[in-house]
This record gives sequence, C-alpha cells and structure tokens, in this order.
Amino acid sequence: MSEPTTTAAGDDTPAARPEIRPTDGSCSHWIGAELRYCRVVDGVRHYLPGMRCPNHTPARLKGQPEPPEMPGWGPGSRKEMQG
Ligand SMILES: [Zn+2]
Repeated sequence: MSEPTTTAAGDDTPAARPEIRPTDGSCSHWIGAELRYCRVVDGVRHYLPGMRCPNHTPARLKGQPEPPEMPGWGPGSRKEMQG
C-alpha cells in the first residue's frame, strides 16, 4: 500500500487551519505565515469579511487607503426609538 506523500496545500482550505475562526469579536484575519488568526481585539471593526483590526482591514490588505467613514454608518448614529 502506498499512500500519497504530497497533499495539495491550499491556502484557503479549512483543514489547513488548526485554529477555529474567532467569532468573539477579535480580528479574524488569517496570518498564513504564522498559521494563526490575528485575534487582536483592540480597535477591531466589522467589515464585509468579518471583524478586522486596523492592521488587517480589507483596504489595508490591498495596500489602499482607508475609505472615509460613511455618515450614518455604525452604532451611535442610529436613532433608537424608545419610549
Ligand atoms: Zn488583525
């Protein structure tokens, strides 16, 4: 019996990630070089891919400047109707 010695090492296969993607509000950016999630909790915000710290925002990862904050975006700007 001969087992395959080489396995397709995909970058994005869940099996290649020993840790579970953080869902506790910490940065969920996968640091491939360190085989771990960032998990920084300081200054994280919610982006389309998930929670990201200031160093791992989608714009930052693309080498682009951060988009300006949109008016009416985020908590605090929402008018809660309570009475
Ligand atoms: Zn991060």
